Order: sequence, then C-alpha cells, then structure tokens
Amino acid sequence: MLLPAAALSYCDSMSHPSAAIIGAGIAGVAAARQLADANWDVVIFEKSRGWGGRCATKRWEGQTIDHGAQFFTIRSEGFRKSLSSHCGDALRTIEAPVMTPEGHVLAGEPRYFHRDGNSRIVRDLGAGLTMHPGTPVEKIDNRTIRGRSFDAVISTAPLPQTLALAGLAPDASAYQPNLTLLLLYSSPVAAHLRDVYAISDPEGTLAWSASENHKPGRVEDGKTALIIQASESFSRAHLEDDPPVWSAALRTLAEDRWGMKADSILASHPHRWRYARVARPTPVPELPEGWIFAGDAAGESRLESAWQAGCEAARILMDG
Ligand SMILES: Cc1cc2nc3c(=O)[nH]c(=O)nc-3n(C[C@H](O)[C@H](O)[C@H](O)COP(=O)(O)OP(=O)(O)OC[C@H]3O[C@@H](n4cnc5c(N)ncnc54)[C@H](O)[C@@H]3O)c2cc1C
Repeated sequence: MLLPAAALSYCDSMSHPSAAIIGAGIAGVAAARQLADANWDVVIFEKSRGWGGRCATKRWEGQTIDHGAQFFTIRSEGFRKSLSSHCGDALRTIEAPVMTPEGHVLAGEPRYFHRDGNSRIVRDLGAGLTMHPGTPVEKIDNRTIRGRSFDAVISTAPLPQTLALAGLAPDASAYQPNLTLLLLYSSPVAAHLRDVYAISDPEGTLAWSASENHKPGRVEDGKTALIIQASESFSRAHLEDDPPVWSAALRTLAEDRWGMKADSILASHPHRWRYARVARPTPVPELPEGWIFAGDAAGESRLESAWQAGCEAARILMDG
C-alpha cells in the first residue's frame, strides 16, 4: 500500500522527468521498473550492498538461505506477467506442507520461491536499472539527493525511516520486529518431519520454523538448514539483547521441535529485523511536496503487496 504525498510537481524537466527511488527492495524496484519503462530517468539509492531489502537471501556456510521473505504468492496477473518476463523459468513452488505443531496441514495457495534465492526476484526485476548500492540517503533538500535534483522522490524505506528522513516523528510501533535464527546441522530432522516444509505456531515462541532443504539445490546433501522466526512478543522482549542471549533459547526450542541432534550443529547465525512486518496498518502523514511513500505500512507485509505499492506509486507519478 502507499499513500500519495502532497501535490506533485515533477515537470521541472523539459525532457524526461526524473525520480529518485530510496530502497532497492521489491517496492522500489517495481516503481523504478514502471517509470523506466515509461522513459523516466530513474536512480535507485540503496543503503545496503545489494538488491532485495527484506526479500533477503544469504549465502551462508555454502548454503543459500532465504532469511527474509520465505516464499511469495502470485495472485495478480500483473505480478505473474512481470515475474515471468524477468525471472524466466526460475520460479518454483514448495511442494512439502506447512503444519501446525499438532500435525495438521495448513492448506494454502501455492508458495513460490526463486530457484537461486528469493532476493534474485528483486535483482531480476531490477536488471538494467541504475542502482547505487551502499549509498544511504541521509538528507533530502527539496528533492535534491547527493547533489542531484529530481522531479520526484519515492521512498520505500520502512515508514519510521521515511518519516525520519522527512524530519517527521517516526512511529516505530507501526512495525513488529523479528528475531530470526539460521541453524545448520550435519544430521536430518526427525523421521516423521522429513516431508514437512515448515511448522507455523503464531501463538508460540517459535512462531515459524522451516527447513530450507525443501527448496532444491539450496542445502548441501547430508546437511539440514533451519530458519527460525520468533514470535512478536519474544522479538520485542529481546530486540536489544545480545544475540547469544536469545539465540540459545530459540535453538533449544527448535531442536526440540524438529528432533535435531544438538551435537550435530555446524553453524548458527542470528539476525535482527527491526522493521520486519506491519504491526497494524498506519496512515502515512503528509510528506514534503514531490515525495511519495511506497511500502507495506498501510497494508499487508507481503512481497506481492509491496510490489503493487511500488507500481501504484509509479502510476501516480505518471498520471501527474
Ligand atoms: C523475517 C521476514 C519474513 C517474511 N516472510 C515473508 C513471506 O514469507 N512472504 C512474503 O510475501 N513476505 C514476507 N515478508 C515481508 C516482505 O519481505 C516485505 O513485505 C517486503 O519485502 C517489503 O518490501 P519493500 O520493498 O516495501 O521494503 P524493503 O524490502 O524493506 O526495502 C526497503 C529498502 O530500503 C533500503 N533503505 C532504507 N533506508 C534507506 C536509506 N535511508 N537510503 C537508502 N536505502 C534505504 C533498505 O535497505 C531496503 O533495501 C517477510 C519479512 C520478514 C522481515
């Protein structure tokens, strides 16, 4: 979802209008792609090293792990078309089921992933666009960023960060944090769970735990890679703690749930998502003239929704 900023005046340029996009996550790339296809002059600024944002993939200990968005839906024809023209035949579905801790299968629509890591979706959609990695936008003066003036600015940084950039009071409670733990073992999961992709337990401390082995080619033979996402309450309670404090607790619970042999652990990796998902839809305050926020703050935290928010932001600019 997105909300428009104050009236836009992006026709300063006589030739191609220009837009700065803050963030190379899926919303930013969707917006940039639409504008570039309509001959806008588009530059993406990204503070981290590459594409993806929360659609994150980590090359870790020889494995390829999606430690942000685990999978995605394809509900709209527009999203389907865009993915098929940019990702070719690299999309797959997870065939194994998601279960409750009590062993009931949770039915759901197809769960898609990118063969080479979910961040590749964003990289594929962004192919050919101008993106500056490792380039945080820290200040915007009247739509001038790093010495260049733009006709419009689309910020896809999570809402609290966008508000801070605009000099407005950030509302950190709009998002819930998430503490994520990656675990790698040299042994398999318990026999009765080998055909299970994930266990969803929104009320428990281990809100989500999944075996990345169900994405073929991601995990070396003989190893097991688990992704653990803590509940909102556990994540909030331990957000500022040192990772060893909370990762030890999550690891014990995960080993119990998946029947792992504790002494077969090869590696673990904690990750703190400060703004993981929308906690409650939040109205976006009025932003400076010429700015648009595009992101999940006012709606759902899903890749497809973020993609739609980016497309909608681009459409608002193109429609003038
Ligand atoms: C742990 C986790 C699990 C999830 N699981 C799923 C799932 O299974 N399925 C699903 O559909 N969705 C899932 N989601 C939600 C989904 O990942 C997000 O809704 C989506 O990726 C948001 O995309 P976005 O482009 O709006 O924001 P982001 O991906 O957050 O992109 C914003 C980008 O802006 C950059 N940025 C921020 N500030 C600045 C600045 N000042 N200058 C430059 N760059 C800046 C950031 O580095 C980032 O790359 C999950 C999210 C998390 C965290």
